[in-house]
Amino acid sequence: MYFTEEPDPIRQLRETLRRFVEDELPPDLRRQLDREHRFPPELFRKLADLGVCGLTIDEQYGGQGVDLVAAVATIEELCRGGAFLAGPFIHCAFYGGMNMMENGSDEQKEAYLPRLANGDLLFAYGLSEPEVGGDLASVTTTAELSEDGQHIKVNGFKRWCTGADWVDYIYTLVRSGPEEDRYRNLSFLLIPPTLLGVQVNSIEHSNLRYTLSSDVIFDDVEVPVANIVGGSEMWNRGWSLLAGRALDVEKIEITAVTFGIAQAAVEEAWEYAGQRRQFGKPISAHQAIRHDLADARTKLEACRLMLYRAAWLANENKPCSVETSMAKLFVADTAVEIALICQRVMGAYGLAEGYDMERNVRDLLGMPIVGGSSNMQKNNIANRLGLATEDAR
Ligand SMILES: Cc1cc2nc3c(=O)[nH]c(=O)nc-3n(C[C@H](O)[C@H](O)[C@H](O)COP(=O)(O)OP(=O)(O)OC[C@H]3O[C@@H](n4cnc5c(N)ncnc54)[C@H](O)[C@@H]3O)c2cc1C
Repeated sequence: MYFTEEPDPIRQLRETLRRFVEDELPPDLRRQLDREHRFPPELFRKLADLGVCGLTIDEQYGGQGVDLVAAVATIEELCRGGAFLAGPFIHCAFYGGMNMMENGSDEQKEAYLPRLANGDLLFAYGLSEPEVGGDLASVTTTAELSEDGQHIKVNGFKRWCTGADWVDYIYTLVRSGPEEDRYRNLSFLLIPPTLLGVQVNSIEHSNLRYTLSSDVIFDDVEVPVANIVGGSEMWNRGWSLLAGRALDVEKIEITAVTFGIAQAAVEEAWEYAGQRRQFGKPISAHQAIRHDLADARTKLEACRLMLYRAAWLANENKPCSVETSMAKLFVADTAVEIALICQRVMGAYGLAEGYDMERNVRDLLGMPIVGGSSNMQKNNIANRLGLATEDAR
């Protein structure tokens, strides 16, 4: 599929979203939102009314039917206007929709998926902690089952929980049994951040400023057992939910953001180079700039192929853990190269207010870290392809 013309429905979806971003998210508004660290909820509502939040959800639950290629195209098009709409779309369609489709119990699917498909429910990820980055199996936030087996008490500290101040549920990874069983005694819980005992403190940061990221402190927070992701039988079996298909799709979603923003950077630099004149001609007529831009376009094209092939494999339900890690690794690292090329082409204006470039560069610099660092992707690729591990003698 990824070497042929796009099917008509995806082409039409792109056209609709491109117009939507042009009309609703003009450059001045993007810059204001970046300064204010927020996205406009009313605009997300309008976007959701186009039906895109259902692209990760089966029709029986009110979705459009799972179409990961279309969902990736949606992220790509939204990122022409930065992460201000792509961000909340992901909190709904991926953190919520995809995870519930893949990992929810029947009751949870019935309860949450129709609302997610409508864009009425938003999730955040509560994985990282102050002492836990890539090594997620060592989370220390604890979850204890009550004696009557009806409730769970949560204590601990999550960090970098993006959207914790406005989502409906934090999809939270907790240690639910003894630590010695490193991968076994973990569970996922759905925790509303409005519950008694939850404290949310924002963290200032320079990238992906469609919202704040936050520290979230759980102090004797009580949730019903109904909030164990996958139902009671998944208690202590959360690692399989993290390491499964949902993780492959998660890598694709952040890679789509990276690609979309890199594309916006190339297009801005391209246009600028045609208009800016130095030494009597457009700078795009100077060979060094021509070559820079040709390089950036070529790298971008390679990123497109990696991303859409991985999305297509995932959509076909084919094994794709290696391909999704390769796409995440390659696109994130290459997008940093693209960002720096494009910023240089724009000279001082690549660092200034009044253009999207400096924000796009800030966003792209973080991509080899967020959502699983480049080194973690290399570890995954090496492990999956059977290289000897560093621990092996
Ligand atoms: C804007 C933003 C939003 C975020 N949103 C969320 C969110 O919503 N939810 C959430 O849970 N987290 C979120 N994160 C956290 C993000 O996922 C982590 O930053 C990421 O997982 C890496 O963790 P770390 O930064 O603690 O780095 P560490 O894991 O401490 O790694 C630091 C460096 O060491 C390297 N390294 C670590 N271990 C190894 C190894 N075994 N082999 C080789 N190299 C290694 C890494 O590649 C990296 O270069 C967000 C982060 C940012 C900046």
